[in-house]
Amino acid sequence: MDDHEIGNFRQAGKLASRIREDSKRLIMVGETLLDIAETVEKMIFEEGAKPAFPVNISINEIAAHYTPEFECDKLLGESDIVKIDLGIEVEGALSDTAYTIDLGGKHGKLVQASEEALANAIKMIKPGTEVGNVGGTIEETIKGHGFKPIANLSGHMIKSNQLHAGVEVPNIKTNDSYKFQEGDIFAVEPFATTGSGYVEDLEHVEIFSLYSVGNIKMRQSRKIVEYVVSNYGMLPFAERWVRKNFPSRLLVSAALKELLQNHFIRGYPVLREVSRGLVAQTEHTILVTSDGCEVLTK
Ligand code: MN
Ligand code: MN
Repeated sequence: MDDHEIGNFRQAGKLASRIREDSKRLIMVGETLLDIAETVEKMIFEEGAKPAFPVNISINEIAAHYTPEFECDKLLGESDIVKIDLGIEVEGALSDTAYTIDLGGKHGKLVQASEEALANAIKMIKPGTEVGNVGGTIEETIKGHGFKPIANLSGHMIKSNQLHAGVEVPNIKTNDSYKFQEGDIFAVEPFATTGSGYVEDLEHVEIFSLYSVGNIKMRQSRKIVEYVVSNYGMLPFAERWVRKNFPSRLLVSAALKELLQNHFIRGYPVLREVSRGLVAQTEHTILVTSDGCEVLTK
């Protein structure tokens, strides 16, 4: 990576950090999820940047990948554990950061477990550290608080225009021996749960991304793909974003179905903890330096 590219990653991190902190005032009982997501996304556009993916608002036993529907009227409830996950794109450079707010005030320890796991992981990341050992630290920290890490969710390497660039940072001890290298960018995201420590896919899908573009039969599907390519490229997008420009619910859902069936797009199903345990998540994007790491979303 050249200095210009690193500068863009720093900028994407700084903006994500500022918007993350700003967004915390929106997380209140009675707020609608749609207002929160749209307000955060508007804050991103007002900074002259783009969302790296739709703002995720995952509540209680939902661990990730939920973003409000087009006409969603869900409100935050008084004992909800709310995870906000957001990312920013600056000229292809991406950031990814998340936090958890416990509105009922009864699960502070669960939130703390994921926060401390992230802090401990960051402390040990430097060139030569194996990703599997970082998973070990995350697991120990979360178990030390009496909870479980989510074993089938992990952090990930980030490259320009690629949010999930292959290498993973597990949330449990593994034998994965990839060693961090100076210049690597990673998102590290411990998930702590009161449940059994696994998530499963629900049928519900609100977030998609382009996969490959081939011969699309339906005219409406072609127009949607053209719209997605020019606005979001290969980055994830929300059905509600498409609906704003293609108002027919039936046509949009038929088109997305056709595109999914032909593997032109992929869907990211909403992820729920299998035993319906509560879930907390904390996430930062880091840049590995010569002797440690720089938290880009600090
Ligand atoms: Mn994230
Ligand atoms: Mn991530």
